[in-house]
Amino acid sequence: MNAQQNNNGVEPVIIIGSGPAGWTAALYAARANLRPLVFPGRAVGKDLLPGGQLMLTTEVENYPGYPEGVDGPQMMQDFFHQAMRFDTRVVTDKGVARGEQVTGGLFTPFQNAAEVDLSKRPFRVKGDGGFECSAHALIIATGAKANWLGQENEQRLAQSGGGVSACAVCDGALPMFRDTELAVIGGGDSAVEEATYLTKFASQVYMIHRRDQLRASKIMQDRAFKNDKLKILWNKIVVDVLGDEKISGVRLKDTKTEEESELRLSGLFMALGHAPITPFLNGQLDLDDAGYIKLKDPYRSTTSVEGVFAAGDVADHVYRQAITAAAMGCKAAIDAERWLTEQGIE
Ligand code: NAP
Repeated sequence: MNAQQNNNGVEPVIIIGSGPAGWTAALYAARANLRPLVFPGRAVGKDLLPGGQLMLTTEVENYPGYPEGVDGPQMMQDFFHQAMRFDTRVVTDKGVARGEQVTGGLFTPFQNAAEVDLSKRPFRVKGDGGFECSAHALIIATGAKANWLGQENEQRLAQSGGGVSACAVCDGALPMFRDTELAVIGGGDSAVEEATYLTKFASQVYMIHRRDQLRASKIMQDRAFKNDKLKILWNKIVVDVLGDEKISGVRLKDTKTEEESELRLSGLFMALGHAPITPFLNGQLDLDDAGYIKLKDPYRSTTSVEGVFAAGDVADHVYRQAITAAAMGCKAAIDAERWLTEQGIE
């Protein structure tokens, strides 16, 4: 079968997700003449956005190729346009569209892949706007969403670049955080890792934890306790984030005494865990205990179902960087292309 002709209406490859992994997979698949069809997803509140987590980031300084840094949303528009420049197609509310037809960039109303049927090939995918299609190969690149407190001021300052972030490794090195007092909320491995990282730049880092014991592993706990610049505030929850254009501090409440206090800060980082976007798979792929897709071979993008490949944060709770997600998207497209060739679908 010639993949370019989409014989019998079966797509060679469908990509679900539109962060760095999804668009990189699309770019590689398109340049391999596979005419990928992408479900970029629908914006749902502030949590899920076409373009993924980088749509909620301000300046990205650690993506190679942008010597002056770049805004996260701008970077994702660049990823989108680069993939669309070749023969990538997207599922919008009005149906399938390509290149010049998609004038709204990532702000176009796209369809979400609401249901997939992986029980037999070709795989079926149903959009939440009613569009249905099938494909010989699937690439899942739906990412993972960071957990937030869900407070109004927290969200406002996170979206305006006001010093509230869910990724210290992404944002912590920005000049606005140098030699200032910062805080990380959480008591897990990520919280310790991110707080430790921030101590390289900050004058003081607080870890605000809601209990009197860390969830982090023993080795990470030791690291936290030994770091002079890191102070743990036990039994504290953040009841409000203060500041107009930039964060000026947080209002804390002691979970034991109920006493409230204020802490002056120039930056606040959430380390409340992540939720991989895998519920729509409905248990059809092997997932780990936290819901991330298990890769059959960690070096590849293969999953428990032949012909289904995974890329980016949906299958990676360790690195969670734009560049690692993009690299996984590249691997998934190459794996899918080679697998299609093996199946005689070229
Ligand atoms: P996590 O283990 O789920 O920890 C989340 C932390 O956030 C917990 O301490 C939790 O408090 C706190 N939390 C959650 N919701 C909260 C809320 N609404 N208000 C206040 N606090 C809240 O997530 P993670 O640290 O991202 O780790 C995820 C996985 O990756 C783990 O398996 C971890 O071991 C692994 N990881 C490993 C490394 C490493 O080995 N270097 C680094 C990072 C992550 P409670 O403790 O009270 O529930």
